[in-house]
Amino acid sequence: MATSPTAVTAARFPVQVGPQNRAAITAGLAFLDASAVPSWGIDGLRSWFAEHLVEPGHMRSPLLVTEPSAGSVTLHGSGAESLTSQSNLPRVLTAARIRIISALRGLIASPTDDRFLAAAIFAGRVRRRRVQSENRWVAQPEPTAPLSGVVLSLFAVDVLSYRDEYDKHLCVCDVCNRITFQESAFRRKSCPDHLPHESGFTRRVLPPERKRGA
Ligand SMILES: [Zn+2]
Repeated sequence: MATSPTAVTAARFPVQVGPQNRAAITAGLAFLDASAVPSWGIDGLRSWFAEHLVEPGHMRSPLLVTEPSAGSVTLHGSGAESLTSQSNLPRVLTAARIRIISALRGLIASPTDDRFLAAAIFAGRVRRRRVQSENRWVAQPEPTAPLSGVVLSLFAVDVLSYRDEYDKHLCVCDVCNRITFQESAFRRKSCPDHLPHESGFTRRVLPPERKRGA
């Protein structure tokens, strides 16, 4: 079974600013990396919530993690009921990933579809806050928000803060759904592993999650 996360190194963060002060996108990308690995379990999800949302004070830890049309899983539970709920985790993660990646892909679509930003603001999942004498966008998802809504609130914070970089450099790979930031305007729909036509052929490498028999 493939266990390699879809990690990106060189082009992982927006080119101009780098990873400093980018806790929101760090958290969003960490979710996308981890949830692409089939073995990521409830412990991993709980730790992700704790590290990126609860400890920094963005939200209280949810008891249940839900995703529309996929159901819910108990984040803090034990016993048979909890085990049954945990068996639903792959469905919940898959459905959340589809919504998150589709929302991000909207930013590079023509015409641009950035409705998830307005939705996050309208739902109160992102807000302007005075932080160290600066007005900044901060994530503040409610504990009952769908998992995709929680993760998208993190991306919304970063897009609202650095929109120009997304307009110029965001890439969402059509083959493996990896999110990268690249200089070339011709690579908006590819990642470094799945470059568009070069020298008359397309380099296509199947991502781990799509390998046959994996
Ligand atoms: Zn790719």
